[in-house]
Amino acid sequence: MSNLTTKTTCPYCGVGCGVLATVQPDGSVQVQGDPKHPANYGRLCSKGSALGDTVGLEGRLLHPEIGGRTVGWEEALDTVASRFQHSIDEHGPDSVAFYVSGQLLTEDYYVANKLMKGFIGTGNIDTNSRLCMSSSVAGHKRAFGEDIVPGCYEDLELADLLVLVGSNTAWCHPVLYRRIAKAKEDRPGMKIVVIDPRRTAACELADLHLALKPGTDVALFNGLLHHLRRHDGLDFVFLEKHVSGFAKAFSYAAESSPSIPAVAAACGLEEKDVAQFFQWFHSIKMTVTAWSQGVNQSFSGTDKVNAIINVHLATGRIGKPGMGPFSLTGQPNAMGGREVGGLANQLAAHMDFDNSEHHKIVSEFWEAPNLASRAGLKAVDLFQAIGEGRIKALWIMATNPVVSLPDVNAVRRALSTCDFVVVSDCADATDLMPYAHVRLPALAWGEKDGTVTNSERLISRQRPFLPVPVEAKPDWWMVCEVGKRMGFQNAFAYADVAAIFREHASLSAYHNEGQRLFDIGALAEMDTVTYDEWSPAQWPLVRGSSVGTSRLFGAGDFRHPDGKARMIALSLKPPKEAIDKDYPFVLNTGRIRDQWHTMTRTARSSRLNRHIPEPYAEIHPAFGGLPIY
Ligand code: SF4
Repeated sequence: MSNLTTKTTCPYCGVGCGVLATVQPDGSVQVQGDPKHPANYGRLCSKGSALGDTVGLEGRLLHPEIGGRTVGWEEALDTVASRFQHSIDEHGPDSVAFYVSGQLLTEDYYVANKLMKGFIGTGNIDTNSRLCMSSSVAGHKRAFGEDIVPGCYEDLELADLLVLVGSNTAWCHPVLYRRIAKAKEDRPGMKIVVIDPRRTAACELADLHLALKPGTDVALFNGLLHHLRRHDGLDFVFLEKHVSGFAKAFSYAAESSPSIPAVAAACGLEEKDVAQFFQWFHSIKMTVTAWSQGVNQSFSGTDKVNAIINVHLATGRIGKPGMGPFSLTGQPNAMGGREVGGLANQLAAHMDFDNSEHHKIVSEFWEAPNLASRAGLKAVDLFQAIGEGRIKALWIMATNPVVSLPDVNAVRRALSTCDFVVVSDCADATDLMPYAHVRLPALAWGEKDGTVTNSERLISRQRPFLPVPVEAKPDWWMVCEVGKRMGFQNAFAYADVAAIFREHASLSAYHNEGQRLFDIGALAEMDTVTYDEWSPAQWPLVRGSSVGTSRLFGAGDFRHPDGKARMIALSLKPPKEAIDKDYPFVLNTGRIRDQWHTMTRTARSSRLNRHIPEPYAEIHPAFGGLPIY
């Protein structure tokens, strides 16, 4: 490795690949996969490989602006702080909000959550990760008592049966898909089942593709649960010892999905395909079921998550090598956001609003007597509240809701009526920017400094290797400066980004004593040099431990008060098109392989644009359809 090579992490998907970035003498950036990083062992997908094409100052926001006028940071920060304070004074703390992003680093996320919930005193901070994985958070908490991904990537390679549900892994988590492909090449007997209404690129590896009707996943997994029970496929020792609620879950499953023909009819599948899937799941012990947005982004997303977890709990296939339910997060730091409490209905460090002990712990730790006592507005409700004039001051960080939220016309209308909108971003000309009264220039990948957590609970560093351009600043710095100007000098006086991480780690361990699995207390005293040199590791990392934890729950020890997991009794909720004649079409979302989110970064790369250069819709031939671009 040359002196100019920096170890960092890819800023795109939740796989969280390690990257070696080298600045060349001509200023260009060469990237390679980091052979030592445990997420990718040197591999990179097309997006990761083209990261060097996306750096540079073209299209960057480089100065603070108020109303289109370039200003200094002092004026910009004073304005943001005073306008937020004015709204709070006039209308109360619930009149202000932050809408943040899984693109933020954990340290940015931590201080944003601390300012809003701890010191402004409202729960009104939500994140674009709400759209991609809040169903999994809720499903994990219902089942396990805490938002925990029990396994690790290696489990997807070790499994003899891998079930991918609502996950075009080939395009959305490409390096993980390559690891799976290599495992199947090495062990051709490994079975792969893809459950997805559409035939996606992930089906290239599939032994069986179940193209079920959209929204019928619960019928399928309830049917599987009932089938396993009828055919002696359950682990009653595990159930009796470690799980509650199973009798009711079995009863609901029997009622909703009584037979293979009934499941096939409900899901629009061939009976023989359903039977094959059930038979494989019954007979192959080493099973992983992995899912992503096809499960989460749904009106019944949480139930789908629990339907999957139910069959793993019922068979005791969890937290052991090659076994477990596995949520694949979409964004690079969706998991970090969950850890700091970046969702409106979380407190911080996996603690909850409705637990008075948790409230006391966070309030005491932050020395924040004004800590919010109830959940704030979630993303869609938040923008509705903006449209209704209930939110008067809004700060949007590192995301573009004018493109990415559902019903963007309503989002545009809401933003156009909001009294005060701040946008901090690295890009100058997003669709959101015309709605901003204040624009704050943020650092981009290659300049940012902090940590991210990937889908398998692995904390990695994003390190800077490019100079800070012009007047751009880290997101955490902007938040802290505004916090100080609002009167909270001591709470936001961090010497550097490592100090924020130490505080985050300390909070995770504060009055924990094994109550919460999210505990990275071992990192609470880490000095700045050690932070800079940090090698990736999976949490939990409790005080006194030096290695992370790959798997959880293999021996039970779930996080509900009785130490047991809960199976959830699930009835079927018909998809909307079945209940509302005004909405006769079913739409599925998907990701383009070589583009990321709203394309502000990846579209800068000509080689990435060669694949599919813009969003498109595909329409079933019965409605006349070739792809519409
Ligand atoms: S798989 Fe994801 S994290 Fe890895 S290089 Fe590709 S986009 Fe980046």
